[in-house]
Amino acid sequence: MQSESIDRDADSDGLEEAAWSHSLRRAIRSRRDLLERLQLSWMADQLAEGAQQQFSTLVTEEFLSRMEPGNPNDPLLLQVLAQGQELDPAPGFGPDPVGELAVSTEGVIRKYEGRALVVTTGACAIHCRYCFRRHYPYEDGPKSLDQWQRVLDRLAEDHSIDELILSGGDPLMLPDARWEELFVRIAKIESIRRVRFHTRLPILIPARITQRLTKLIAESPRPTYVVLHSNHANEWDQGVAEAIGRLRRAGAVLLHQAVLLRGVNDRVEAMVDLHRRLIDLGVLPYYLHQLDPVAGAAHFAVAPEVGLQLMAALRQQLPGYAVPRYVVELAGEPSKVPVDESWVERRNQQPPS
Ligand SMILES: *Cc1c(COP(=O)(O)O)cnc(C)c1O
Ligand code: SF4
Repeated sequence: MQSESIDRDADSDGLEEAAWSHSLRRAIRSRRDLLERLQLSWMADQLAEGAQQQFSTLVTEEFLSRMEPGNPNDPLLLQVLAQGQELDPAPGFGPDPVGELAVSTEGVIRKYEGRALVVTTGACAIHCRYCFRRHYPYEDGPKSLDQWQRVLDRLAEDHSIDELILSGGDPLMLPDARWEELFVRIAKIESIRRVRFHTRLPILIPARITQRLTKLIAESPRPTYVVLHSNHANEWDQGVAEAIGRLRRAGAVLLHQAVLLRGVNDRVEAMVDLHRRLIDLGVLPYYLHQLDPVAGAAHFAVAPEVGLQLMAALRQQLPGYAVPRYVVELAGEPSKVPVDESWVERRNQQPPS
């Protein structure tokens, strides 16, 4: 009887994995297909095809299904649509916008006290055009279990690190079998008290939140923090809400980060709706990021003055716990920097670089 039930579990694990990897395989990988599916083929554009060669198109069917056909300004479409203007040089925008290369070794980024961020994979289930790591040299990260063990051994030796941040790319692109192995190894490191995932996958492929994964989280001796990333309320359909429910029941602490993006969420209504949607699902807003000046993303920039107005509206309309911290990441700073009146003033006094 015992072995029969184990077999049945293995079967259902296999089915779950097959479901989400199937989603990945049938994801849309060209700008032309994306536009065709949305009845926007008239937006074909030679320059944009060039931008796509620099950073390819990738978006899942699940995400696409939440876009409005025929709307060239759909806030989800704008996040993934390659644009010719990405190729325009923009002063101050570069390949390493937040100074990560200087603090990165073998896929481990140590920027802030107590926390080590591991770039677990370069893969994602979406290519966000504003991604600050769109030029990151992903080949550096750990791949085999041996390479992982070397990374974990180094973290174990450094007792100043008590939090492990799993980022990427998207850490949930790794299969459950790998996470099962890694959770065991991480749990052996006494000094690591917390594990944090930075992921967008529950939004892109809700089926990625498998029973096997939630069981791992539920049984982990460490609290698991999951920082979700989305930018618009339309990203949160029923399927996503159910995936979030599974994570909640597993006991994960759910936080959220968004990036302030022109045309996507730079209006009061969009910003309020997003944050209200989050708290309705039991997700706590954590960060609202000022756009990192990564080459190719200048058309998404929103002035921090506008961001401050949006923050004021959030404070006015939502419970205090629904108001994220509005921050900017600056190379060489010991933490993310709050965007407030005094920061904006200091910034405006600096000569443009
Ligand atoms: C943002 C970030 C962290 C985590 O910072 P918190 O403010 O604790 O969320 C850690 N490492 C790197 C490299 C980061 O960019
Ligand atoms: S999911 Fe995150 S890492 Fe992946 S492309 Fe989008 S912003 Fe970048």
